[in-house]
Amino acid sequence: MINVTKPFLPPIEEYNHYLQGIWERNWLTNNGPLVNDLEIKLKEYLKLKHLLFVGNGTIALQIAIKALNLKGEIITTPFSYVATTSTIVWEGCSPVFVDIDPKSFNIDPTKIEERITDKTTAILATHVYGNPCDVEAIEKIANKHNLKVIYDAAHAFGVQYKGKSIFEYGDISTSSFHATKIFHSTEGGALIANDPELIKTMSYLRNFGHVSSDAFGPVGINGKNSEFHAAMGLAVLKHIDTLLHLRKVQATAYNKALATLDVQRPEILAGAEWNYSYYPIVFNTEEQLLKSISILNEHWIYPRRYFYPSLSSLSYVDTYEVPISESISKRALCLPMFHSLKQEDIDFIARLLLRVQNNPE
Ligand SMILES: *Cc1c(COP(=O)(O)O)cnc(C)c1O
Repeated sequence: MINVTKPFLPPIEEYNHYLQGIWERNWLTNNGPLVNDLEIKLKEYLKLKHLLFVGNGTIALQIAIKALNLKGEIITTPFSYVATTSTIVWEGCSPVFVDIDPKSFNIDPTKIEERITDKTTAILATHVYGNPCDVEAIEKIANKHNLKVIYDAAHAFGVQYKGKSIFEYGDISTSSFHATKIFHSTEGGALIANDPELIKTMSYLRNFGHVSSDAFGPVGINGKNSEFHAAMGLAVLKHIDTLLHLRKVQATAYNKALATLDVQRPEILAGAEWNYSYYPIVFNTEEQLLKSISILNEHWIYPRRYFYPSLSSLSYVDTYEVPISESISKRALCLPMFHSLKQEDIDFIARLLLRVQNNPE
């Protein structure tokens, strides 16, 4: 069976090495030495000033919205994972959808201004498949209308734009270190911001609002992560360059094997160094997509409709016209991509897809 993804596990001795230390110290959570070490090593690797390791990518989004004290309407993308929208609603704000760009699949900055009202407080956009949003256009609009910007950078580990980490853009970037993501700590996530005051606030928020052991500041939540998760993060981080390299090799192999397949791929922002975190293709029709899934499934291959459905169809959001998101989400498919996927798997998947295309009944 070949699934769309398979979590990377480091050699077990490397994980055990960290467990040994946890047993010796008997310190399991609450900002322990491994959590500290992981934060330092991630900052070094990504060349960031500040980063907070948190429980997951969803709590990172919730803390970001809370830290910026957002109220009212938040402009966002309907083409993302459900957490991008559900966190807005969970925090008592209203998601206002802006359609996506048909080439990049990211929020279309030229359509943002028409949805800004006197209740709008922020823009929350996703770097879809790790492909950076047009961060400069978004920043310009945000400055003009005095809006905050949060990026859901769950897919964007290791992505650079104009020579710096994509995590540095916006007021806050959040990431996910879930097991299926390119860098992971089993469950985990991160908050990144350049403003040290904002980082301080978010560090209180993730720890129940504690400002010291016996004093509380703002309303907080438990957004901490454990020594065991940090251990996995540290063990995986040692292999991240290899993991990123393998993704690029596999994407190149897919491109070659699928050269004659009539599908659309995301156009990567100029000036960006992409991480190839997914291999998405967009068929011309949903029918072609369904036929392709069906033949792959017959051969025990399970790609994933990602993202499907468009978040504009959730039961708890207001209705906005977003025809491009609705159309792309019906036709987008992520093909299997993970560290141990072989060239022959790629060739086999490609042969099946081409068979569907070249043999229409
Ligand atoms: C994975 C993901 C999340 C949620 O992250 P978790 O760590 O699973 O909570 C949020 N947004 C996007 C775009 C994601 O892909």
